[in-house]
Amino acid sequence: MAIEPKGIIVHSMSEYFERDALKWLSRYNKETNTFDGTPLHQYPNPIHAPDWLVYSRLSVHGFISPNGDWIAGRAVPEKAAHAGKSIFGNLSGLNSHFLGFEMLVPGVNNYSQFINKIATAGTFSSAQRETALAKCREWMATYNISSNAVVGHSEVSGDDVRGPGKGKRDPGSSFDMDAFRGDL
Ligand SMILES: [Zn+2]
Repeated sequence: MAIEPKGIIVHSMSEYFERDALKWLSRYNKETNTFDGTPLHQYPNPIHAPDWLVYSRLSVHGFISPNGDWIAGRAVPEKAAHAGKSIFGNLSGLNSHFLGFEMLVPGVNNYSQFINKIATAGTFSSAQRETALAKCREWMATYNISSNAVVGHSEVSGDDVRGPGKGKRDPGSSFDMDAFRGDL
């Protein structure tokens, strides 16, 4: 189903996940050590972010690798499952209204490593940021989106929306959203 994009959400996630992280997803069966009925050892290790989202039954319109490469995700402007509970102005449930992409945090990261890195200056490369700017400018032109509707996930899905301690923290302070909007 296509949406009429009214904004863009900037996310971040680990570039790779340990295969054992599949054990945290609900479709892992610990009696048989299988995920979705397939033995865990048959999955790649580590698991690349685009594959991880598939296993998590989530989706996004693209990923930006640490070297700046764009990896296409869900076709634009098809609806994708990236925002979850979220609010922007008088819009809620932003999967139905916003495009989204993931800034990939280099390497294999567990959640605490990820949280540390997205709060550390220099985590995202300038090539990665340039690709993000170019992609946002392209979508802004195509769908008549203004820069103030280019938001970080944490800005539309924070604790104020999801409840204390449950808010989204990506893309993190390492990706300065105000400066990014200023450069669009
Ligand atoms: Zn996110």
